[in-house]
Order: sequence, then structure tokens, then C-alpha cells
Amino acid sequence: MTVHRLSPKILSAMEGAVGQSGVAIDTAGMAKYLGDWSGDHRGGALAVLKPASVAEVQAVVRLCGALGLGIIPQGGNTGLVAGAIDIETRGAVIVSLERLNAIRLVDADNFVLQADAGCILQTVKDAAEAHDCLFPLALGAQGSCQIGGNAASNAGGINVLRYGMARDLILGLEVVLPDGELWSGFSGLRKDNRGYDLKQLFIGSEGTLGIITGVELKLFPKPIRVETAYLGLASFEAAIALFRQARRASADLMSAFEIIGSECIELARLIDADISSPVEAPVHVLIELSASAAVELRTLLVDFLAGAMESGLVTEAVLAESSAQARSFWAIREGLVEGQAKRGYHVRTDLAVRISDVPALVDQARRFVGLDHPGWLPQAYGHAGDGNIHFNVLPPAGLAESEARAQGADITGGLYRIADALGGSISAEHGIGRTRNRAFWAGLAPTHRRLVTALKDALDPQGLMNPGCLLPLTETSS
Ligand SMILES: Cc1cc2nc3c(=O)[nH]c(=O)nc-3n(C[C@H](O)[C@H](O)[C@H](O)COP(=O)(O)OP(=O)(O)OC[C@H]3O[C@@H](n4cnc5c(N)ncnc54)[C@H](O)[C@@H]3O)c2cc1C
Repeated sequence: MTVHRLSPKILSAMEGAVGQSGVAIDTAGMAKYLGDWSGDHRGGALAVLKPASVAEVQAVVRLCGALGLGIIPQGGNTGLVAGAIDIETRGAVIVSLERLNAIRLVDADNFVLQADAGCILQTVKDAAEAHDCLFPLALGAQGSCQIGGNAASNAGGINVLRYGMARDLILGLEVVLPDGELWSGFSGLRKDNRGYDLKQLFIGSEGTLGIITGVELKLFPKPIRVETAYLGLASFEAAIALFRQARRASADLMSAFEIIGSECIELARLIDADISSPVEAPVHVLIELSASAAVELRTLLVDFLAGAMESGLVTEAVLAESSAQARSFWAIREGLVEGQAKRGYHVRTDLAVRISDVPALVDQARRFVGLDHPGWLPQAYGHAGDGNIHFNVLPPAGLAESEARAQGADITGGLYRIADALGGSISAEHGIGRTRNRAFWAGLAPTHRRLVTALKDALDPQGLMNPGCLLPLTETSS
């Protein structure tokens, strides 16, 4: 790719596309767009462009195409795999969707919401709630991530178990293609089998096939009853056995089943020193049932937990007596992600295995770290009901960051091998970005590679959309 210095002519063309206030080229103006949420990575860019309309997105894409400039779409920049920042070429343009942020339509009769891609997820959820509806995508970053970023990364979160991933919640997309043309795939239809389901190409494509400018979402009736319990168990085996039983006993009303190794609680305390665990056991489970009608959820949960305690599967159980107490349970789960970031550089994974393999994954990963990297501290937690474990590892105190990063790369490789041997995935929900692109590419079978390359070449023949994200620059460029 040609790397341009930003000449006055190019700057003026950029200002022509998005207006003066939509262009940032100075260090201060670009700062917040160049680093990632975790503080692990800092990239560079030729400019940050902030279109305020779909037409401006098209103008930006056409301009970059004419100049041969790489385009990095950026949503809320909460992604954890460096997909929205350029840590390699530093010569691309970041296109922030933050000014494209209107709720376009809430159609509660048809349980449909349409929004600009730059809408913050929480704003989308609030707009749905104002119409007595639920948009169920829920994740710790929902106050900052954007619905377009959620679509582009096929976000998961805590309610996947009941409602599916972003992919399952999207009815339609509107996308500016790499040649600047607009594809509008909104229809409001629940069923539509007219050929290829094109929206699915863009969901999870991490900005490599186009810029999502609008999303059409499925809404659900808003739950009026929610019951939450925080449980203590002896092991990950017990937790998975409990999940199986809960799935059958809860009449499909289970909306979350999160697992937390007790070693993680200290991390949550880094965010709020007052956080205290309701149980003492080695493994904690946060279970939530919810219903949009007057279903006797509490009886269901109490009866189920009584049986699980009697059988010895659950050793401690605390039922939330109020929504405030339920929130305090969730604060533990959410706090540990932020607490980790406070610890600075650490190994972060997002592994998926079959649900029944979760105990083996955690067991093998802990053994591997203990034997090969003594002193490193494993932290295992995740969306256990989806077979998704974030097996993260904190470096020993006092280890220099450069050394920690070198050892961390070895640890990450070892953890990927364990997941792979179990037939699992190295990316359950965070995507590939730039931190996993080489491992992703190395793990693809030749036919899979051919299909991925054919799609990319067909939609983005100039290779300008998010260069280096998902497809590593060195291995895939001809
Ligand atoms: C505290 C915390 C908790 C989290 N919990 C979860 C969780 O439970 N589950 C989960 O799945 N993720 C989680 N994440 C990761 C992250 O929040 C999600 O991946 C989220 O969907 C990213 O949205 P974003 O708007 O921040 O996207 P960004 O980080 O800005 O971008 C992510 C990717 O999408 C591309 N992109 C962004 N917007 C567009 C667009 N409009 N068009 C085309 N491409 C685009 C970018 O180029 C990049 O490749 C968490 C992150 C944090 C910080």
C-alpha cells in the first residue's frame, strides 16, 4: 500500500468530505482514537475522520479509494484484539462512526429497532426499554461500545445463552462497500430466503469488507421478573453439571450462567474495595432467570437450588433479595474485567470449547501455566453456558513488561494449543483483530483460506478495508 504524507491537498479533500470539525490530524485530537481500551496497544494514523452522515461515510471511502489509503473503521474502540487501531502500518485513516449516532426507528409492534451504527449499545437498550422492549445484547462495555462495532465484531456477552450472539439479533444491515456504494439490507422481515444472506457476511467481518452505517435489530418483550443467585461450588466439573441440570429445569428461562474462579475476586476489588464475595467456595456461579410474564421464577429457582444443594453439587447459595443485591453480584463479574486492565499487561484469551470440555480446558490450562510458567497467576472465568472461558494469566509481580510480553506470547501459544487439541476456538466472541491474526491464519485449512481470500478479494479488491485486521499483512499480501 502507498503511504502518503498528508499534503495540504489531501487535507483539504478530507475536509471537503467530512467538514473541518470532522477531521483530526494533530496528536491531541487523534490521541483517544489511537490506543486500545486495555492500554496494551498504541497505534498511529494519518488522520482520524468523523463522518456525520451516511453520505459522508461514502465520500470518505471514495476519497481513500482514490488515494489508495487504508481505512480502519472504529466504533467505541472497546475491542480487545486491536481491530480498530493501526499498530502496524500507521499510515491508514481511522474512520470513527461516533457522529453517526441516531436511533432511527423503534417499531414495538413489530419488535424492530433501526439505529445508526455509531449509537452506543446502552442508548439502543434504553430506546428499546422506553417502548417496553428488550434488546438483549449485554456486555461490560455497553456504555461505550457502538452497535455497529457489536455487529462488526459479532459480540457475545452474558445473554447469548438465551438470545444468541449479535449475529442472531440482527435483522438487517446498511453498509458502505469498499467502492463507496451503499448496500441497504433493511427489510424488517423475520423470514427471508431470497438467496444469500448478505448481512451475515458483514457481521463478524471486523471492518474488513465495508463500513456498517446502520443496523436493524430484533427486539424482545421486556422481562418483568428477574431472579439472580450467586452460588458456590467445589469445581468447574460441578459447575458444568449444574448448568446441564439448570438448563433442563429452568424451562428455557435462564438468561445467564457465568462462572468465576475464586482467584478472580481480588481483581474486582481493584475496582471497588468494598466488593466482597457472597460465597467462599473455589468456583462461583452467577445464574439469572428472567421472564416477560408473571411466571413464578423465584419458586422455580429456589426449588432447583434446594435440589442442587441436597445432592451436594452446590455448596453455598445466595439469592438476591433486591435488584440492588443482584447488581452487587454483577459488579463482581464486571469488575474483574476492569480490574485486570488495572494490572497492566497480562495474557488475555477468549477460548471456546464444547460445554462438556470446559473443566478439561481449565484443568489443562492451569497445569500448563503452573508447570511451564511458575509464578504467573491464572484467572479463569467466562460465559460457561456457552463453553466460553476467558483464561487470563497475570505476570508475576515485578517482572519487567518487556519480559512479561515475551513470556506472555509463549503462554498464549500454549493456551491456544490446548484449546485446539480439544477441538475449540481461539476466539469465542472478541474476534481476531491484529492480536490473533497470525494464529487465526495459521490454523486455517487450505480450502477455508481460499474461501476467505476469495471473499475479501471480491469485495475489497484494493485491500484497503482494515488492512492487517483478521488477515495478516505479511502472510496474505501477494
Ligand atoms: C469491559 C469490557 C467487557 C467486554 N465484554 C465483552 C463481552 O462480554 N462479549 C464480547 O463479545 N465482547 C466484549 N468486549 C469486547 C468489545 O466490547 C466488543 O467486541 C464490542 O462489540 C466492540 O464494539 P466497539 O464499538 O467498541 O468496536 P471497536 O472496538 O471500535 O471495533 C471492533 C472491530 O469492529 C470494527 N468496526 C467497528 N465499527 C464498525 C463499523 N461501523 N463498520 C465496520 N466495522 C466496524 C473495527 O474496525 C474493529 O475491527 C468487552 C470489552 C470491554 C472493554
